[in-house]
Amino acid sequence: MERRSFLKKAGLGVAVGAASAAPAIAADTPVIKWRMASSFPKSLDTIWNVAPQLAQRVEELTDGKFQIRPFAAGEIVPGLGVLDAVQAGTVECGHSASYYYVGKDASFAFDTTMPFGLTARQQNAWLYFGGGLEAMRELFKTYNIINFPGGNTGTQMGGWFRKEVKSLADLKGLKMRIPGFGGKIMAELGAVPQTIAGNDIYPALEKGAIDAAEWVGPHDDEKLGFYKVAKFYYYPGFWEPGPTLSFYVNLDQWNKLPKEYKSAFEVAAAEANLLMAAKYDAQNPPALNRLIKSGAQLRIYPKDMLDAAYTVAEKLYAEESAKNPRFKKIFDSWNRFRNDQRNWFKVAENTMASFTPKK
Ligand code: CA
Repeated sequence: MERRSFLKKAGLGVAVGAASAAPAIAADTPVIKWRMASSFPKSLDTIWNVAPQLAQRVEELTDGKFQIRPFAAGEIVPGLGVLDAVQAGTVECGHSASYYYVGKDASFAFDTTMPFGLTARQQNAWLYFGGGLEAMRELFKTYNIINFPGGNTGTQMGGWFRKEVKSLADLKGLKMRIPGFGGKIMAELGAVPQTIAGNDIYPALEKGAIDAAEWVGPHDDEKLGFYKVAKFYYYPGFWEPGPTLSFYVNLDQWNKLPKEYKSAFEVAAAEANLLMAAKYDAQNPPALNRLIKSGAQLRIYPKDMLDAAYTVAEKLYAEESAKNPRFKKIFDSWNRFRNDQRNWFKVAENTMASFTPKK
């Protein structure tokens, strides 16, 4: 209701503003200046740009009155300190990936992505209409934060390998840069996961200090040049089937906003969520073509490895569910949703998307 009345008002402002001089935003609404801390460096251009894009849209929708200044990772808040900073009110809002905070509560991972979980489309279905956003907001509320979906990379790639992986056995002792849940799974499969920051991956791969590294997908991976030192490019990144980024807003600050500003933020966040996925989908194919021309060799992960990884993921979910009631509650509902999505997408969407015309 709130959103509809705002849009109606904003629309009227555009349509008849000149004739009636009725402003879209009431004259007595305050000028509000916020800072948004991003977890991402500007070098991840598609991801970083979501923050300035949201700020620009919010400003446009509020006649320039609600101003949000975005800061890249490390400028005012460390990349992984965004949730803490928003919770404490050091900054009013942030743009981050909630799975960075699984050390606080593993349930945060549902807000971003889960191994063998939902794709971008399915994640949006779960968040907006499957009870996901409500479940995540319950969790975020305990951190004095309200969260909004804020972008998606789509299914990530599985990473760059110096040598071919032909079966599960080839993972034994393999040193791979892969953080988080994916790293935990790789460890159970016999690999040795490493956590290495973006800029340090290339030299480690080049020197052979690591044998493999995952990052994002063609558009971002190309810029870091991995194809020059590890030519086997694996897919899919089964640990990140549809990573959703999130905007965080400090609840005290949120509650102080005029309702038009709340709507502006909500609308701009939804737009950012849509546009980031669309942009990656436009950027990745030409990047992949260039990588292949430069010598990258595409490989699908061996089936025995994917099957083993799936079994490990299910085991990790069961273990976490046994010790974390919140995780269990979200997982049970999410898991039912995932099964329905899997069955539905298999029918029309996947068949259409994977159709190959006869040559
Ligand atoms: Ca990744």
